Amino acid sequence: MDRVAIDLHIHSILSPCGEEEMTPNNIVNMALIKELDFIAVTDHNTAKNLPAVMAVAKELGGGICILPGIEVTTKEEAHILAYLPTLEAAMELDQIIYEHLPEVMNEKELFGPQYVMDEHDNIIGEVDKLLISATDIGVDRLWDLVTALGGILVPAHIDRKSYSLIASLGFIPLELNIKTCEVSKKETFDNVLKNFRFFKDYQFIHGSDAHQLEDMAEREYFLELPDMQRQTLIRYLG
Ligand SMILES: [Zn+2]
Ligand SMILES: [Zn+2]
Repeated sequence: MDRVAIDLHIHSILSPCGEEEMTPNNIVNMALIKELDFIAVTDHNTAKNLPAVMAVAKELGGGICILPGIEVTTKEEAHILAYLPTLEAAMELDQIIYEHLPEVMNEKELFGPQYVMDEHDNIIGEVDKLLISATDIGVDRLWDLVTALGGILVPAHIDRKSYSLIASLGFIPLELNIKTCEVSKKETFDNVLKNFRFFKDYQFIHGSDAHQLEDMAEREYFLELPDMQRQTLIRYLG
């Protein structure tokens, strides 16, 4: 068994709310400095910075593993973390999600830029549609899409009063077979269990939801995994 340090909820510069310092190189280097083992860059409704993040991690080595992920906003306005086994699967989901975003364009001055970067932190593009809009994909449909790609879902910050599955539905639909829920950094697992007894049937993880480098997790959230394979982590979470 390995004690694995995780931070599976990090935003890059591509999220309009992500700081400009959240470049692929800065995120991976910060994860190395913090000695994290597994990280996930989960931008709002997009995976378009994952090719760069994964290329940087491969280039730098140092044992850091990247779990491909997207923080999807469902039709119900719930934030759900979708984790995928491969970059290809994440890019496939990215494309589907983009088609399901409304035709609302980003206003850079208002929301912030949505930069796509290469592995040298050069800006190689910008995403046109506003990525923090809700998609028209319901959580049940998202489940079908993600599991068909070999991925799993983890409802994000379920303790939050807005943009969480609990805030929008009030419960976790049983047919989704969800095993893990994410709890905000500032909330304790015990408190969530006290407030919602049905969570006793789920396992919890913390994620930083970092939008700036200093908010990324330290070596503070651990999982016990038999090995460092991406597939092992996915199986653990889902
Ligand atoms: Zn969120
Ligand atoms: Zn987030």
